[in-house]
Amino acid sequence: MRSNIDGHFLLIGLMAYPIRHSLSPQMQNTIYSKLNIPYVYLAFEVDQEKLPDAIKGLRALGLRGSAVSMPNKQVVCQYLDKLTPAVEMSGACNTISNDNGVLTGYNTDGMGYMRMLKEAGVNMIGKKITILGAGGAGTAIAVQAALDGVKEITIFNQKDECYTKIEAIAEKLNQNTQCQVNVLDLADKTQLRQEIATSTVLCNATGVGMKPLEGQSLITDPTMLHADLIVTDCIYSPRKTKLLEIAEQQGCKTLNGIGMMLWQGAAQIKIWTGEDAPIEYVKEKMGFND
Ligand code: NAD
Repeated sequence: MRSNIDGHFLLIGLMAYPIRHSLSPQMQNTIYSKLNIPYVYLAFEVDQEKLPDAIKGLRALGLRGSAVSMPNKQVVCQYLDKLTPAVEMSGACNTISNDNGVLTGYNTDGMGYMRMLKEAGVNMIGKKITILGAGGAGTAIAVQAALDGVKEITIFNQKDECYTKIEAIAEKLNQNTQCQVNVLDLADKTQLRQEIATSTVLCNATGVGMKPLEGQSLITDPTMLHADLIVTDCIYSPRKTKLLEIAEQQGCKTLNGIGMMLWQGAAQIKIWTGEDAPIEYVKEKMGFND
């Protein structure tokens, strides 16, 4: 517990519902303490009904900013003054920065994923990525990858409402970036095999592999993974999903969702405080090395 909180401290919020389970308050406050910077991060149970008032409150109380999670990521955009290109493209915001009353919406999920790859020594400029799943995480990754200079993105999704949404976003990305974005049906395993064969990175951005689908993988045939492939999973609990297990057996380099989570939080800290997060320290403190 910090005992030095005085009248100069600034508040950063997290607006979502439900949210009490989130690791973010602990992670963010651990970093502020370590850096000895005057910020406090608190979670607020805010649903879509309360959101307009919560944003007014953020402005009135002069919060430095807020994280935003479900169910508010899309609907919050209409209450903000400015949106980054990633938020414009994806229609989803997970971070608000309050700069002297001007609210800007960012999406740090895609930034976190791309930073995780960079930190692992993976240069994606001019390369191809195949993404499984186009919900919040998959969309944020696809949009940031396209904006960052990835050459080609193939997104596989089952034929649900996410499929229609990502088709429209892919069209926007194709018109507004240099990236070639394709959307294909996850049920087509022949195309999935072909797309993976020419990819540098494969990314699982579905919940398949975590509870209640723990032990399952969208890739069941190991021969679909070539040894040079980098296989990533957005899931961080469990640390090693079935997909990562299969990938490891095929000799692939693997990365779980911890890095994405840490680096998206680090991107938020940079936005709110201008500071670089001490990533290795947080990993240790939060037990992410275990
Ligand atoms: P979401 O609900 O927005 O999207 C889920 C996606 O999974 C959709 O594309 C949906 O079509 C697909 N899907 C669901 N069930 C499926 C099934 N049985 N077979 C095939 N596809 C299926 O969820 P989200 O917020 O995008 O989260 C996706 C995953 O990413 C979750 O595991 C979540 O924990 C993880 N995530 C991790 C981070 C991180 O920082 N590491 C951040 C966000 C999300």
